[in-house]
Amino acid sequence: MRQKMAAGNWKMNGTSAALAELETLIQGQHAATSELLICPPATLLSRAAELAAVSPVAIGGQDCHAATSGAHTGDLSSDMLKDAGATAVILGHSERRADHSETSEDVAAKTKSAWSAGLIAIVCLGETLAERESGDTLSVVGNQLAASLPDGATGQNTVIAYEPVWAIGTGKVPSLAQIAEVHDFLRQALTTRFGTEMADAIRLLYGGSVKPGNAAEIFATSNVDGALVGGASLKAADFSPIIAAL
Ligand code: PGA
Repeated sequence: MRQKMAAGNWKMNGTSAALAELETLIQGQHAATSELLICPPATLLSRAAELAAVSPVAIGGQDCHAATSGAHTGDLSSDMLKDAGATAVILGHSERRADHSETSEDVAAKTKSAWSAGLIAIVCLGETLAERESGDTLSVVGNQLAASLPDGATGQNTVIAYEPVWAIGTGKVPSLAQIAEVHDFLRQALTTRFGTEMADAIRLLYGGSVKPGNAAEIFATSNVDGALVGGASLKAADFSPIIAAL
């Protein structure tokens, strides 16, 4: 049985004042039975981790470099994230793939680094609108999965997030049938590669315009084990009902 998960990706949002939202979120989650994660900007990571220390909310990074240390100005290693209190890291988000030309091979290298630091890698995949409209969704996400995920993935070290690029921050959400089609396909691809037991342990999150109003139906969709949430994770008042819908 896979534990449901809600992960909030604050992206490049939030200064110190935003920690009040995290505190409010934490206060409402004493009886949480799902795995909860907030990925604040790196500047807030260690303070967020201190706030969340004795709570059901874990803290994660939004990216890491593949190397452990070195001459990479502005980058952060997985060891640094771990040291700051992170237990997970989002990798291969479509904004990183687009803004920083990250390839699936880069994502695989970062994933290995995350694993070696003891972080859960949340590996993101998703098609663009043009790819969906040309009928290439499954081949695109299948190729991204194959190339972004190194051998050695387990239910403990890996979470997959399916995030259609056209649904991120747009208010547009695929139909439940479209979400189910991709999630079922990803589960099957994981089964082919890692075997049933391992594939059944890896959580598949949906991401892209998840809101309090659509969370419950998305979570009830085949092979959806939770959500990776951007905009609606910034305010506890929005993220809490999404968690409650898990
Ligand atoms: P959104 O972002 O919820 O704001 O659409 C999702 C994401 O990018 O993870």
